[in-house]
Amino acid sequence: RFITFEGIDGSGKSTQARLLAERLPDAILTREPGGSPGAEEIRALVLTGDPGRWSPETELLLFTAARRDHLEKRIDPALAAGRTVICDRFADSTRIYQGATRGDLREKVDTLHRLMIGREPDLTFIIDMDPAAALSRGLARPDAESRFEDFGLEMQERVRAGFLALARQYSDRCRVIDGNRAVEAIAADIATQMGLAAPG
Ligand code: C5P
Repeated sequence: RFITFEGIDGSGKSTQARLLAERLPDAILTREPGGSPGAEEIRALVLTGDPGRWSPETELLLFTAARRDHLEKRIDPALAAGRTVICDRFADSTRIYQGATRGDLREKVDTLHRLMIGREPDLTFIIDMDPAAALSRGLARPDAESRFEDFGLEMQERVRAGFLALARQYSDRCRVIDGNRAVEAIAADIATQMGLAAPG
């Protein structure tokens, strides 16, 4: 099974991805952008340095190149070996961040996805939470690679709306999780949706 976590920056999806992975003995936990050595190099290219360094189109190509490497080197081999793959962000993040928020590139995003990636998750948890709360949580976190500084509240709100629209578009595989709760309550909700017993 291929399970992804999506949501705005600071929504707690990385924590929830880790907690779920800890409960599944066969799971590998990975993340995007990055997840393979080559893709981590591309991550550094995209997320460090001058924010205006890449045009939206170039950025889309870089994210797609990173995803292709991650898929070839890590995700596909693990799935082929029968393991569960839990990924912190995947193509849905590109649909929203590159596809909707930085010029309307959505058609190009979808075309590139069909051409170069093709894979969709079996299940996607979209951690939905108040954008202002997520932003202040994120700003309090020392993380040189986040885009909180250049994005701001308006962007958080647009991204949140984008993920909710996406959850409706792909309602067969997307589950919206209320992230405005304690970490344990969210984890228990996700565990229930996975058919696991709530953590004791
Ligand atoms: O999820 P993570 O914090 O590792 O993401 C790093 C940064 O990259 C975040 O600020 C996120 O908004 C941004 N990002 C992006 N486009 C993507 C994936 C992540 O702009 N497709």
